[in-house]
Amino acid sequence: MVVNVDLANARKAVSFPVEELTHFINGGPEKTVRRRWLRSLVDPQNDPIFSNINQPFLSRDQYYILMIKRFKKMLQLKKLHNLQKDDWGYLIIFTMELSISTLHDLFFTPTLERQMSEEQSSKWFPLAKEYSILGCYLQTELGHGSNVRKLETTATYIHETDEFEIHSPTLTSIKWWPGALARTSTHGILFARLIIDKKDYGIHSFIVQLRDERHKPMPGIEIGDVGPKYGYNYNDNGFLRFTQVRIPRENMLMRFSKVSRSGHYSTPPHAKIIYDTLVSNRINFLELSTLFLSKALTIAIRYSLVRKQGDDYKDLKNENLILDYQSQQYKLFSGLALLYASFFNKIYMQKLYENYIKNIGKIDDNLMAEVHASSAGLKALCTDLVLEAIENARQSCGGHGYSQLSGIPNVLTYYAHLVSAEGENTIMYLQTGRYLLKSFLIAKKGSSTGGRLSHLSFYSKILMEKCAAETLEDLLDAETQLCAFRHMYLRLLSDLNTSIETSATTHPHGYDGSKADHMIDIVHLSRAYCHYITLINSHEGLQSVKKEQSAIYPILRALIDLYFINAALNQSGDFLIDGYYTSHHISLLKQGQKKLLNIIRPEAIGLVDAWEYCDNNLNSALGREDGNVYETLYEWVKMEPMNILEKQGKIVGYDEGLKDILTGKYLKEIKEIEIGKVKPRL
Ligand SMILES: Cc1cc2nc3c(=O)[nH]c(=O)nc-3n(C[C@H](O)[C@H](O)[C@H](O)COP(=O)(O)OP(=O)(O)OC[C@H]3O[C@@H](n4cnc5c(N)ncnc54)[C@H](O)[C@@H]3O)c2cc1C
Repeated sequence: MVVNVDLANARKAVSFPVEELTHFINGGPEKTVRRRWLRSLVDPQNDPIFSNINQPFLSRDQYYILMIKRFKKMLQLKKLHNLQKDDWGYLIIFTMELSISTLHDLFFTPTLERQMSEEQSSKWFPLAKEYSILGCYLQTELGHGSNVRKLETTATYIHETDEFEIHSPTLTSIKWWPGALARTSTHGILFARLIIDKKDYGIHSFIVQLRDERHKPMPGIEIGDVGPKYGYNYNDNGFLRFTQVRIPRENMLMRFSKVSRSGHYSTPPHAKIIYDTLVSNRINFLELSTLFLSKALTIAIRYSLVRKQGDDYKDLKNENLILDYQSQQYKLFSGLALLYASFFNKIYMQKLYENYIKNIGKIDDNLMAEVHASSAGLKALCTDLVLEAIENARQSCGGHGYSQLSGIPNVLTYYAHLVSAEGENTIMYLQTGRYLLKSFLIAKKGSSTGGRLSHLSFYSKILMEKCAAETLEDLLDAETQLCAFRHMYLRLLSDLNTSIETSATTHPHGYDGSKADHMIDIVHLSRAYCHYITLINSHEGLQSVKKEQSAIYPILRALIDLYFINAALNQSGDFLIDGYYTSHHISLLKQGQKKLLNIIRPEAIGLVDAWEYCDNNLNSALGREDGNVYETLYEWVKMEPMNILEKQGKIVGYDEGLKDILTGKYLKEIKEIEIGKVKPRL
């Protein structure tokens, strides 16, 4: 492999041990070894089914078929090597076989495991684990997604036969969007209104068989595909209409809520417990975010170290590498800063969630509220910022970034749905914001809020603080960064609460009505708070990096400092409004931003190479490991099916219309056929 000279030189200039960063990303050297081995299992050189080379030219159905074939192959590898949960998860993510397995492994199977009684689970869980049944998650309807409480599908208990009757009573109650529903799944976890003796007990979950042994829809079930989407087109997102479908009573998921043979309903210990899978998937979204962003940045940074454009003002004979432009560095290194901050968020949330799961059923209300609020807000902030950063990475590749062959549009259009799915982002921010407002009111009354909000007890003291930093170094001190964001978000929280309370006194709908008139501010507050907890998670994570992987600490610290500066400058008004920062602080932060870009510049290639994506996985002509961008683009365009046909003598479109236009035949046809028939419009 002849590596592009600029890319090779950039790799030589990296000052930190890249492999150590790889170990950190993977969770230790043993995991790196294991992951490299897993990667070799799906190397297209061993089995061409894993080759992505033709993927941009495939139609929806061709792509779906390829994914099904690959999935079958991967299940064989799983059996053969007895791959367990972590290995399997990595393989799925690495190959991006996300359609079937995400829905089945991340939504369907864990819900069976966690929401079913032991007896139910012993029946269904082994079937799901062995893929003898394939499942999807049937929540969203045509008319309602975010507002789960207003879902309309009904599950009515029939005393006589000890069954539930599942029905879609209206057009808007048709299930719409669920992934892997249209063709793949045999079963689904259904969210429907539980009705017993005409009483509505709200939304509960049920397992429903969708297709029979010959894979035909069950009686009373109409299933179809929702059609082409913005991206992620190989996934068979579907619609589903029930017409009085009967399922046994035992198909209701009864770990928490129960319905007895006599139709007696018993209540769950905590109403929100059935949304447990949602929380865990928000955390999975944090992981997916780091993977998708690292892919896009690997492509864009490698390309920016190969692409030359614009004269070097120091030596007009030379052209600059585009990564040497400060503006390009800002676009891409801000993405790197976000990538590693999101990585620290993911680590923190995984630990918090493990603790939550261990104690499920006997959960303390405060922990539950904190897990819900943090997972909601961080999911929203992270996916919002990552989507923006992937788009920035695409734009930073100029015109070539618009080509599917760059690999970025595929990453971007797949990733884009994460801002809407598993809790639409605005609604997630609002949930976190309301939690903050509620906690603030508790603190104001003198009660303790605990957990990460224990500082609310000293809110009035914090609101009096002013930043004492005099130099950039002072400003970037970890504790000073956290104090700044804590002060800023608390200022927003306190002012917002005052404003809501003031207008509530005259609002016809009181406090709630006034809150509804402050939605933009609640979202703004929520984002500020999430930046604050991202910084806490990052600095806590950095402490252990400093102890255990000291060689990569300085560069990771520089990235988190850049994250802090970017977030602070984007909200500089909120820091200036009560004089916490002065204009001197803002100008120091601007200087710091540029200084950090210079520090990161020589390390950038190491920060993306550490993710160890191979060419087949990136599937990008621009992000090639050897930097042979132009050769690859030229080679790949030859695979475009219309170019292949032309080589075979068939010029697509010529006989179908172009020839008539160019020879003037189209005019003759008008004269012969149309003239005189068409009346001019008045
Ligand atoms: C690719 C893809 C895969 C999906 N997979 C699945 C799946 O497997 N299973 C499944 O069940 N669903 C799935 N979904 C559906 C997805 O979960 C929902 O689309 C998502 O929850 C958003 O809900 P919605 O579409 O009803 O948006 P809406 O709630 O209608 O949002 C539209 C707009 O209204 C605003 N809005 C709505 N309510 C409020 C409010 N109370 N306050 C302020 N603003 C509000 C939102 O902020 C947004 O701007 C999938 C969707 C996509 C795109």
